[in-house]
Amino acid sequence: MPLSHSRKAQSILLLLLLALLLSGFAATSVIGYYTSRDSIRHNIVNTELPLTSDNIYSEIQKDLVRPILISSMMSRDTFLRDWVLAGEQDPTPITRYLLEVQEHYGAYTSFFISEKTHTYYQAKGVLKQVREDEPRDVWYFRVRDMQDAYEINVDPDMANRDQLTIFINYKVFDYSGNFIGVTGVGLTVDAVVKLIDDYQQRYERSVYFVDSDGRLMLTGAEGGPLGAKAGQLLSSVAGLEALRAKLPQPKSGNFKYQEHGRGHFLNVRFIPELDWYLFVDKHEEGALAGIRHTLYLNLLICALISGLVLLLVYLAMRRYQRFITTLATTDVLTGLPNRRGFNLLAGQALQEAKRNQSPLSALLIDLDLFKQLNDTHGHLAGDEVLRGFAHNLQSNLRQSDIICRWGGEEFILLLKDTGSSTARLLAEKIREQSDASSFPFNGVNLRVSTSIGITELHDEDTLDRLIARADRALYRAKQSGRNRVCEETFEPQA
Ligand code: GH3
Ligand code: MG
Ligand code: MG
Repeated sequence: MPLSHSRKAQSILLLLLLALLLSGFAATSVIGYYTSRDSIRHNIVNTELPLTSDNIYSEIQKDLVRPILISSMMSRDTFLRDWVLAGEQDPTPITRYLLEVQEHYGAYTSFFISEKTHTYYQAKGVLKQVREDEPRDVWYFRVRDMQDAYEINVDPDMANRDQLTIFINYKVFDYSGNFIGVTGVGLTVDAVVKLIDDYQQRYERSVYFVDSDGRLMLTGAEGGPLGAKAGQLLSSVAGLEALRAKLPQPKSGNFKYQEHGRGHFLNVRFIPELDWYLFVDKHEEGALAGIRHTLYLNLLICALISGLVLLLVYLAMRRYQRFITTLATTDVLTGLPNRRGFNLLAGQALQEAKRNQSPLSALLIDLDLFKQLNDTHGHLAGDEVLRGFAHNLQSNLRQSDIICRWGGEEFILLLKDTGSSTARLLAEKIREQSDASSFPFNGVNLRVSTSIGITELHDEDTLDRLIARADRALYRAKQSGRNRVCEETFEPQA
């Protein structure tokens, strides 16, 4: 196979290997990423969000159950009822009573509103008279007319700088079952807000309460989703378009929506005590950042390993290629270049000589009567002589000279920058040296002479013509008695 083809095949092989390694590595990394992502999503939807919702719900309940009990006891308190039935003469006892309740049970406020006088009593004394035409007092008349024994209402507390307060409003009846007023306690939602803040900051979640109209009622100190404030309708929060489309009115369940390209998971739970919905919302960006980082790291490691494997394979291939090339261009017996090796070097040497107008001579060397030597001493003896002769020949040459085992017992030399007269001197030296040398084998000193044909390169020569001329010179040397050097000069073809 020509070298360029083999190079191309090699490149294709390396590219295929790279593609295979990269796609294999990338596939496992990406599959791993998606598996982890699914598991994280599953965990968010089925564990994290419901658990947060549960915790917040139970906190709300804990905050509410005790006050409901206290309010219930207040509504049944005989002192309170007796005092009202006695005509609400002096506000001091009821004020003391309310202060006692407030302080002992740690309520934020405690109150009683009399149906008969419409007076609003609280721990600090008489607050005001409730009026049907005052929007802030509407709640009283609503409680008076409702069926249930009590309600839970969240309102700003005007007695306490309008702080958002959960009121337990309990109806009070006299001993005959006549409605005589409303009592109860109020507590701030500080504990819940603190819990929400904690969840929002620690677990990158949005936690907020929404009423049935979709109005944000209660959230952490730092605001609700996308900085929305309490009192704001969710439908007016920019960025929540996808949620708005999916959930125009709050309802319980798990939902998914997009906000500025980020995937959100949302758990909604109805809180019957408040008639509110608890929203626990988490975007997956933060949760996925870790595994995305791992994916990028994996891909980087994959690319590095692929590169390393490729480099190692390339180096191994290059080494093997060189080994094969050497094997293909070297003669095994003598270690000299064979004809293929010679052709690679000779073409270039001829071109250089012609381009530089420098002389170049060729020597064709043939061992004399070698068949006889083989016949007399055996083939192995012949091999030993060939090896020894090649070794001696090489020791006479310069680095730049090109040598080759041309065939059986024939050798060829190309001498760069060497005219025929210098070539003749070297040829004579080789001939004399081989005539004088002997090669020991199995106790016998083997000897062999050489015939050498020489010729000098001409501008019009090809390699074949140069060698053919050297071959003719060698033929003449053989014809004229062997163990000699003959020269053939260039003659223009007719
Ligand atoms: P001449 O002087 O005319 O060249 O006579 P020759 O016997 O050298 O020439 P011929 O071409 O008749 O014989 C060459 C011999 O070289 C024949 C062949 O067996 C032998 N020969 C060729 N290659 C090898 C080799 O690798 N090892 C050995 N031992 N002998 C070889
Ligand atoms: Mg021969
Ligand atoms: Mg011969």
